[in-house]
Amino acid sequence: MGVLHEVLEHNSHWVAERNRPLSKKSSKRVVIFTCMDTRLVDFLEPALGLKRGDAQMIKNAGATLVDPGGGVVRSLVVAIHGLGCEEVFVIGHTDCGMGQIDEEAMRRTMIERGVPSEAIEALHPSLHEWIGGFYNPSANVERVVGLLRTNALIPANVPIHGMMFDPASGQLKLLVEGYTPAGRVSEPPIEAARFR
Ligand code: ZN
Repeated sequence: MGVLHEVLEHNSHWVAERNRPLSKKSSKRVVIFTCMDTRLVDFLEPALGLKRGDAQMIKNAGATLVDPGGGVVRSLVVAIHGLGCEEVFVIGHTDCGMGQIDEEAMRRTMIERGVPSEAIEALHPSLHEWIGGFYNPSANVERVVGLLRTNALIPANVPIHGMMFDPASGQLKLLVEGYTPAGRVSEPPIEAARFR
């Protein structure tokens, strides 16, 4: 059995215990773009000193950016231009599952579960460019920060920081400091992430 009814049951009790309204705007005026990894749940936020209501959160597999006009950028546009966020944090993490997924094994699994191969081939960027292009998480963070920094939808005076997070220890490492134009604080990885 699934966990749906367990979730709904928990939610009804949980709501009954709370009645404190919070603003939908980030009280710290920050938006965080990070990975959907399970180990970051209820761990990344406290490690950053963030509480409920403090930050907008955007998550996907690997904190990857595959489309300059896609969902991630659109969410950032809303966070910045609609909800008053003034800083962007791009946070990758060590031991990221995106770097360990075998592209061909995933393709086989999808086919076995009835996903039409045309649907897989229609992915843009392709499965190979997307899954196969994720070499290492810190290179990805630097790449994403670079892409966002040159995205015309994000004002130049919005700092974009890049960081790596350790999902075991909770330690944060700064890769790119966004307050200055040349904010890189580490040597670029030899092995570069790429998508297109
Ligand atoms: Zn990850």
